[in-house]
Amino acid sequence: MAESSQNDIPKSNPAASGEYDKKCIFCKIVNKEMGTELLHCDEEISCFKDIRPAAPHHYLVVPNKHVGNCKSLTKEHVPLVKQMVELGKDMLEKNNITNLSDVRFGFHWPPFCSVTHLHLHVLAPVSQMGYMSRLIYKLNSYWFITADQLIEMLNSKEETN
Ligand code: 5GP
Ligand code: ZN
Repeated sequence: MAESSQNDIPKSNPAASGEYDKKCIFCKIVNKEMGTELLHCDEEISCFKDIRPAAPHHYLVVPNKHVGNCKSLTKEHVPLVKQMVELGKDMLEKNNITNLSDVRFGFHWPPFCSVTHLHLHVLAPVSQMGYMSRLIYKLNSYWFITADQLIEMLNSKEETN
């Protein structure tokens, strides 16, 4: 029997669907051009480890399609952001992180993000993060927004925004 997997379905290939930015490092990772291990990959979203971990567990959850940074999102993106958060929680659970009060989920707010492709930072345990990492992923700062805050902000936007 020929081997096949979900990943053979052309629809899941961002390059094939035309929603691929050839200058984007995360498009390349999702498209398996970088040799980065994908810890999860389904039709919509993927997860891989951050190359410069700021915590013992530091995952990036990204849409497979090139979606711009969190400032460019609208209310219509709320289900996508929620799906990304759920995957982040699953990844932590799979890695035996069960204390969800010691985790951080969020996004750097432009211009403080270095990659334009939307990516959720999933960090745990926060209690083991160093001084600089806590600063970089600081709550209620003008450079980092939690996933919950982003969802709330998007929900408060007009549909046509
Ligand atoms: P930002 O600063 O945009 O919020 O986060 C981008 C993140 O992507 C950084 O934490 C950085 O370490 C990570 N990153 C950048 N390039 C690569 C890469 O090629 N592979 C992986 N796995 N992570 C990357
Ligand atoms: Zn991209």
